[in-house]
Amino acid sequence: MTSSHFCAVNGCDSMKGDSNVSFHYFPKDLAMRNKWAEFLGHGIFNKYSIICGKHFEKDSFANLKEKELGFSVKLFLKKGAVPSIKKPPSREEPAPSPVGFILGLYYLHVFMFDQHIK
Ligand SMILES: [Zn+2]
Repeated sequence: MTSSHFCAVNGCDSMKGDSNVSFHYFPKDLAMRNKWAEFLGHGIFNKYSIICGKHFEKDSFANLKEKELGFSVKLFLKKGAVPSIKKPPSREEPAPSPVGFILGLYYLHVFMFDQHIK
């Protein structure tokens, strides 16, 4: 069931384990589930399917304030929340920090040096 680790929305590459993304199971309520399916545009989901928080408006979350303040770890959807954002902004994540970039270069250098002395 590897598919259950990925966001069910087409073109979204959010994956369980992404620390800054919340994931939400499909609602049990049939009418609600139909609305979610309508948003998805395909019926390929099961009870393990998840949709990530990027497809919900901010006011869909019951505890966004608490989360932002650091009081809660998990985001919860309000009752009746339906995903509505098809494509999250493509450049939402902050650019890699210069430190990460320099570290990357350093490791690349070490790696190449390793190759050289073998
Ligand atoms: Zn997603």
